[in-house]
Amino acid sequence: MKFGTRIIHTGREIDPTTGALSVPIYQTSTYRQESVDHFGKYDYARSDNPTREALEETVAQLENGTRGFAFASGMAAISSTLLLFSPGDHLVVCEDVYGGTFRALTQLFSRLGVESTFVDATDTAAIEAAFRPNTKGLYLETPSNPLMKITDLAAAARLARERGAITLVDNTFMTPYLQRPLDLGCDVVLHSGTKFLNGHSDVVCGFAVVRDPELGQRIRFIQNAFGAILGPQDSWLVLRGIKTLRVRMEESQAGAVKIANWLAGEKRVSRVFYPGLPDHPGHDIHGRQSSGPGAVLSFTLDTVETTRRLLEGMRLAAFAVSLGGVESIISYPARMSHAAMPPAERAARGIGDTLVRLSVGLEDADDLLAEMDRLING
Ligand SMILES: *Cc1c(COP(=O)(O)O)cnc(C)c1O
Repeated sequence: MKFGTRIIHTGREIDPTTGALSVPIYQTSTYRQESVDHFGKYDYARSDNPTREALEETVAQLENGTRGFAFASGMAAISSTLLLFSPGDHLVVCEDVYGGTFRALTQLFSRLGVESTFVDATDTAAIEAAFRPNTKGLYLETPSNPLMKITDLAAAARLARERGAITLVDNTFMTPYLQRPLDLGCDVVLHSGTKFLNGHSDVVCGFAVVRDPELGQRIRFIQNAFGAILGPQDSWLVLRGIKTLRVRMEESQAGAVKIANWLAGEKRVSRVFYPGLPDHPGHDIHGRQSSGPGAVLSFTLDTVETTRRLLEGMRLAAFAVSLGGVESIISYPARMSHAAMPPAERAARGIGDTLVRLSVGLEDADDLLAEMDRLING
């Protein structure tokens, strides 16, 4: 079956009890047990909830994994999964990893004795050079945020496997519709489901998906022991959101392609970062390992004044943090996602004061273009 069909017919789309076409919201914390000797499949809702389970199996299936786990946020999924590691373990991490992940690694996991080295993961040799005898994990994001740098996932995962480390990939920007890291040899896929998977800017949630059953059991243990689970109402909303994943991604991506091409020809736009453009340094690798460039792009403008006029003037894109909603979202990395970084370090990473990130929603791209044209070209 084609992927678009699998999004709808996941095997978990029908309620087994009633035949309902929508899985019910099991709003319960506990379950009555038959006898002292026999406990049923469900005993307490931190451990198992049928609504959450339907969502977990759906996301696992879409990533071509065997087990999926739903958490209270993307950061809950990431931090819970990082509890796979122990004091003395070392991680190699892509340098433009999501800010919240950087903070968790450098301010929480470092205190617990898990050390991280940050590298330019577009360079497989740099990844290799950062490995130590105690390196147990390679943590990647591709395309990265906000400069859309591309890592060769198959090459990186091979390298890690040869050295006895697991590869974890934050697949938030792509979703399984466009990129499936487990198929490329990676071990754990992570998501902020808050973004494209749910897609409606109304739920905060996260996922971890694995193929290896033993790794699945270890994350299952952490999910239950640590307890950062997703509730049944939110699980239901995400199940509903995922039903339109394909049409949302296709439409938003078509808009992003159109806008990226237009920006690339504008005098006041100095650079456009989008893996769909042929001159993007990761264009070929991205083309091999995914089926599309996605719906997020970044660009730099001529002056801070133009940048401010665009950010504050847009009405069809909300000036906000986050991405992946049905509504376009325009954000300012220097003051938002990377505000905590010292200006010099930010500049060194290419995140200057005229850099803008746009997550293209479901508005007509022509209307977005017309508004951007008016604001940029004044
Ligand atoms: C938003 C985001 C996260 C964090 O997810 P939350 O749901 O906000 O906790 C992690 N990784 C990426 C790439 C993100 O965009």
